Amino acid sequence: MPKPRYLTKSRFKLGMECPTKLYYTGNPLYPDKSIDDPFLIALADGGYQVGELAKQYIPGGHEITSTIHADAERETMALLQQENVIIYEAAIRFESLFIRIDILKKEGNRLNLIEVKSKSFDSADEDLPFLNTKGALASSWKPYLYDIAYQAHVLKSAMPGHIISSYLMIADKAAKCPTDGLNQKFRIRRDHRNRKMVTVDTALSAADLSVPLLAVLPVDEYVGMIWNGAGTDDFIERGFEATIAWLAEAYAKNEKIAPSPGGKCRDCSFTCNDEELQKGLKSGFRECWRETFNWTDRDFKEESVLALWDFRKKDEAIASGKRKLADISEDDLGLKGDEKPGLSRSQRQLLQIKKSRSGNTEPYFDRENLAAEMEQWTYPLHFIDFETTINPIPFTKGVAPYEMIGFQYSHHFVERDGSVRHAGEYLCAEPGVFPNFSFVRALKKELEVDKGTIFRYSNHENTVLLAIYRQLAASENPPKDIADLQKFIVSITHADDNKGLFWESPRNMVDLWYLVKRYYYDPYTKGSNSIKYVLPAVLNSSDFLKQKYSKPVYGASSGIPSLNFRDWKWIETDDSGIVKDPYSLLPKLFNDIDEKNQALLLSSDEDNLIKNGGAAMTAFARLQFEEMSDYERPEIKVGLKKYCELDTMAMVMIYEAWREWIY
Ligand code: SF4
Repeated sequence: MPKPRYLTKSRFKLGMECPTKLYYTGNPLYPDKSIDDPFLIALADGGYQVGELAKQYIPGGHEITSTIHADAERETMALLQQENVIIYEAAIRFESLFIRIDILKKEGNRLNLIEVKSKSFDSADEDLPFLNTKGALASSWKPYLYDIAYQAHVLKSAMPGHIISSYLMIADKAAKCPTDGLNQKFRIRRDHRNRKMVTVDTALSAADLSVPLLAVLPVDEYVGMIWNGAGTDDFIERGFEATIAWLAEAYAKNEKIAPSPGGKCRDCSFTCNDEELQKGLKSGFRECWRETFNWTDRDFKEESVLALWDFRKKDEAIASGKRKLADISEDDLGLKGDEKPGLSRSQRQLLQIKKSRSGNTEPYFDRENLAAEMEQWTYPLHFIDFETTINPIPFTKGVAPYEMIGFQYSHHFVERDGSVRHAGEYLCAEPGVFPNFSFVRALKKELEVDKGTIFRYSNHENTVLLAIYRQLAASENPPKDIADLQKFIVSITHADDNKGLFWESPRNMVDLWYLVKRYYYDPYTKGSNSIKYVLPAVLNSSDFLKQKYSKPVYGASSGIPSLNFRDWKWIETDDSGIVKDPYSLLPKLFNDIDEKNQALLLSSDEDNLIKNGGAAMTAFARLQFEEMSDYERPEIKVGLKKYCELDTMAMVMIYEAWREWIY
């Protein structure tokens, strides 16, 4: 019997992103470039752990474990015959709409629907975060509120005559974890069928649960708004109920809803590479653009407006027929300078367009302004990069949900004469250890030896250090050297965060990412300024780097000192002479994850710098949860160190190429 094609919660969410995606999803002809390993997803966002923690706060429920729709539904309906009952993963169906409710609490005629999410709010703030200042639904909360509104609709339809109340259960950032090791008591594992599961440690105690880290927030008001089409434009065309019926019918009949391409297509995961196309697989993206705009293979060879860096008017441009990068004019960009050295945002966009129009692949390099910047740098130079994580369930006592954890850094050092060495690193991945204070202490020791300029790539390192500054200030048992650690943080950061911290140190870290955006553009990056794109571009265009790093000098006895590499060559070329991405030369971080998911985990996303460290975050989580052999644990640590070392070496190589072009 064919599997029923129900509109589940996740399919409803997908349909709200783009209705056409419902046709491509699950169809093996259309590859989906999103991470689909449930174990990785569980490690990355902590959502499954939060679900288990929620059950501890609302105990005594019956868990529906069957994954067969009909069995799960039957079991749920039998339990709902009781006057009062709590059901975890309740399976509710109305016609072709099917949901699993995280926690369903029946009290007589009342059904309390509780959706557990790995999101957070701060109960110390006066207002709930769901509405914006104009009284409309806040965009960051819309997907979660739509999800509950959908579930409440299905529940109301399936259980007429009941009063439905909806709640969101999310982490409260104002709560402090009462005990050590709480996170590790909710262990994520793979089961024998390679699915993710969470096991709760039998040592979980009343003390562990004495401070609720999750809050239950009533959301009926927002569900009502969505049902009535208020506070959002997303249901203007059909209304909420009719939208659900429309999506459900198309999915049930496996009919494609006509695409309406726009800026959203930039992140569409239904794409194919040439190799996949040759194998007969199909690109959902190409199909949509062909159908809607009559694009041919030749059109796809040109860059589309989706590739234009930081362009916020993609929807308007596409709707007005300007679908190629070359179509965008100065007026579309609102071209203007900003009276700072280098390229403004719109000037950089125009540069990208002009290079694309003329087919000019030469890098743009603002020698004069970058030389002026370099004149201000103090040697030796330090290049640092942090790996961090945030987790809804804290690892240690006194820590709030989603507090920043800095567990790894790498540090490269460059002398005035150009000599380079990997000067230091830190990695704390021992289960249950809060590393932040020892992390910053180790960094301080390495950076306070001189007054050299320090470089980061993006604002992340500044954000992390300010978070640790606040954690030190709030600590109930601060370390003896708290004053020294805070003074050090102030000395290398800037603070202007509307939370009472204001300073700008003379040794404030220099943001190499900012310098890239102002003074350097290589068409090879395709408009991305992520270091994962800029590094291969620089390696391909710098003869100096090619010559230097095509020899095994890195980690060689008379070459560049490295803490993790021996006799390593950063430059390898493919058959057409293009330098391979150095990250692709590193050993796989995980042996039990397929290549597609591994590549996605390592892929970068300029807009989401946390995601940039996805592989490291996942490795950290695995080291926290998994019972590993004496072989596996050191292997993952070695992998983590190599990846982080390349992050700072990448910064050094960008610096070396620039210096060589200037002098
Ligand atoms: S390419 Fe665009 S229209 Fe087509 S499925 Fe993806 S997001 Fe939707």
